[in-house]
Amino acid sequence: MLPINPEQFASDNYSGMCPEVVDYMLQANAGSAPAYGEDLWTQKATDGFRELFETDCEVFFVFNGTAANALSLAALCQSYHSVICHETAHVETDECGAPEFASNGSKLLLGKGPQGKLTPAAIESIVQRRNDVHYPKPKVISLTQATELGTLYQVDELLAIREVAQRHNLRIHMDGARFANAVAAMGCSPAELTWKCGVDVLCFCGTKNGMAVGEAILFFNKALAEDFEYRCKQAGQLASKMRFISAPWLGLLETGAWLKNAQHANRCAAYLESQLLQIDGVQILFPREANAVFVKLPEPAIEYLRSQNWQFYTFIGSDGVRFMCSWATTQARIDELVRDIRVGVAAASP
Ligand SMILES: *Cc1c(COP(=O)(O)O)cnc(C)c1O
Repeated sequence: MLPINPEQFASDNYSGMCPEVVDYMLQANAGSAPAYGEDLWTQKATDGFRELFETDCEVFFVFNGTAANALSLAALCQSYHSVICHETAHVETDECGAPEFASNGSKLLLGKGPQGKLTPAAIESIVQRRNDVHYPKPKVISLTQATELGTLYQVDELLAIREVAQRHNLRIHMDGARFANAVAAMGCSPAELTWKCGVDVLCFCGTKNGMAVGEAILFFNKALAEDFEYRCKQAGQLASKMRFISAPWLGLLETGAWLKNAQHANRCAAYLESQLLQIDGVQILFPREANAVFVKLPEPAIEYLRSQNWQFYTFIGSDGVRFMCSWATTQARIDELVRDIRVGVAAASP
């Protein structure tokens, strides 16, 4: 047995499986089941998503978020098309070119916008920049909800983007790595944040919500899902023991843990933020709206935290430190972190 590491704030994918996920994993482990998604767990999880989103969507499961994004984007456009995303988007900065690879070359066009969010004006200016045959034709808008900077697209912002999309015949992809956190924070229904705002496809992340592995891809625009299972299979993303992705998803959906986990993570981040605001020399970089807190810390304080074995990222979005909370974050652990930040900041100030 290896030593057990305490909870960290580097990412919500540092966490383990939540109890509901483990429970359904073990239930699915009893006996045998048909392979490749022909099993009852997969059927029930698929129906569970249709119920949750109040619509008859097409549902697919893949192993990770990069594959979910890359394959779904590839399904929304041809290789000569382009995808408009924010310059900090995970599809641009953290997927090693997977969207371009999966789509045989669809180019990502980067837009700007405050707090990690694309604006209608930014999208419009990218679309208007060129309309000749020499330029890859914009076909998709990719939005991350919650964003890479931990902020949220409000419903009116989504509706304004849909308006641009409709005007220019663009499709809307949503990277929902932290979609549950967005729903939990906004108090809207999943439907209100997706297809009712014109989202054609959502990549709904299970891993960061409390699963071991597994993402759901939901096509609200069912026509775009044609032959998608072949795309998944060709990409090596069709799990033969599919029930070990779909059963834990069913666990999250049936018990409501998907929302409970996200609410917990958001509450933890709010608490962490409130504690950090009381420390002189700590600056919160972006509005804390979901489960991430971005702060600017003096370099010696960062070094001190690392010397105390804290793990966190400093390369996301800006020069700040990102602290990410998950279903497994505890108040005691937050208090330990805040205590060490206090010490580090005090030592750094003249
Ligand atoms: C974590 C994450 C993903 C998925 O990443 P994988 O490591 O491929 O599972 C996608 N988008 C965003 C914004 C993420 O934070």
